[in-house]
Amino acid sequence: MEDLFQSIVQSAVRYRKSLPDRPVGVRASYDELKSLLDAVLPEDGESPETAVRKLMAGVEQGLIHSTGPRYFGFVVGGSSPASVAADWLTSAWDQNAQVYASSPAASIVEEVVARWILELLGLPATAGVGFTTGTQMAHLTALSVARNSVLRDRGWDVDSDGLQGAPHIRILCGDCCHATIHTAVSMMGLGAGNIREIPSDGEGRMRLDAFRRELEANTDPTIVCVQAGNVNTGAFDPIGEIITPSKNRGAWVHVDGAFGLWAAASPRFSHLVAGVDQADSWATDAHKWLNVPYDSGIAIIRKSEAHLGFKTARCAYAGPAHAAGRDGSQWAPENSRRARGFVLYAALRNLGRRGVADIVERCCGLAKSFASQLAQIPDARIINAVVLNQVLCRIEPAGIADLDSFNASLASRIQQAGICWIGTTRWQGKTMLRISVSNSTTTGADVSLSVAGVAQSIKEEIARTDR
Ligand SMILES: *Cc1c(COP(=O)(O)O)cnc(C)c1O
Repeated sequence: MEDLFQSIVQSAVRYRKSLPDRPVGVRASYDELKSLLDAVLPEDGESPETAVRKLMAGVEQGLIHSTGPRYFGFVVGGSSPASVAADWLTSAWDQNAQVYASSPAASIVEEVVARWILELLGLPATAGVGFTTGTQMAHLTALSVARNSVLRDRGWDVDSDGLQGAPHIRILCGDCCHATIHTAVSMMGLGAGNIREIPSDGEGRMRLDAFRRELEANTDPTIVCVQAGNVNTGAFDPIGEIITPSKNRGAWVHVDGAFGLWAAASPRFSHLVAGVDQADSWATDAHKWLNVPYDSGIAIIRKSEAHLGFKTARCAYAGPAHAAGRDGSQWAPENSRRARGFVLYAALRNLGRRGVADIVERCCGLAKSFASQLAQIPDARIINAVVLNQVLCRIEPAGIADLDSFNASLASRIQQAGICWIGTTRWQGKTMLRISVSNSTTTGADVSLSVAGVAQSIKEEIARTDR
């Protein structure tokens, strides 16, 4: 075991040190990668060294080096050394964070981390906090509690009676809301077809006039989903202006703040989420902007007693609840699970308040710089107001008929070149480049190098496109 673990540490160190110099994307095809990894399940097991060595050799060419400084796809963030080290220990300790009795350490660490997160995000200290795989499951948690709560207000008990015959619930959200809202609503049995999408403005923010009209249109139990940080533009719904009338009508307000909610941790950007603390629930990720490894979402619910009512059944073998210590499984969908709090504990001690604000501010500054440098490239047009860490850019050379195909093909070329990784998105009916700056190791030099790479790829793409 010792040799195996030591050699893995060395490999991991070599890997992480090499990140700035590696081509960021993957060049091998599906067939090539499959042939490296596919094998007959061995009848007799291999040694631990062989099994792990084969894994490493097999995946090497298929890794996207998204934890390096020039990956700008999706909103992936990176993972700090402290968080990776704590993640290894989480596996080595292999705790079940289900109930206090299955890991007192995990339980108390989650309690402390929950408090820190509420403080950082400026949310009510008495709110319930659950640790989930990601924002998708944080939505499922929070929206399930919301569903139960708005129906309880009408005298309906979802926990015992389910949804059959229950009053109709309507869900209001912007037409630019994230797909995971739809998925959560359909998984909850409310029907994605019952979502009323409110038209948004050019930056993807819900339009207030349209929202008010829809809110007042009927008196059904209502859940309103607002967005803090649009995945394309980084824009924020007018959260405070939406919450007040919603609450006046007894609606539940849920905030999708997968990455944007972290703006609350920065004095310079917290104005973007003004009023957000008045909502009823919040879903966010640590594995994006907080730069910890994957498997780290957070569900927060203002009324912790409602949150606790989310799961009422208890495994016989779990024993009675501890008088003081929390049971992690009561606050999130899973029963047995990894002790997610350990990583957050180390990451937040390592960063401190200042460090979290710094990540947000630095990434936003670099996104602005990315946009202004891209704007210098002939034919490049910046599409969004860069209010956060997201940049939309479309390249529109004269004489090219199909600009959507041109931009899509350009993105592949940029990815193949390997200097940086930039994806595409569809925004307002058009294909364009989408850049997310969310890795705390990205520097100004990385941005300049990436812009130069993009400029070169544009020249090459124009040269091969028929005009
Ligand atoms: C990433 C993201 C989600 C989904 O988060 P997961 O962690 O992938 O489940 C939801 N909403 C927004 C705005 C996001 O950026």
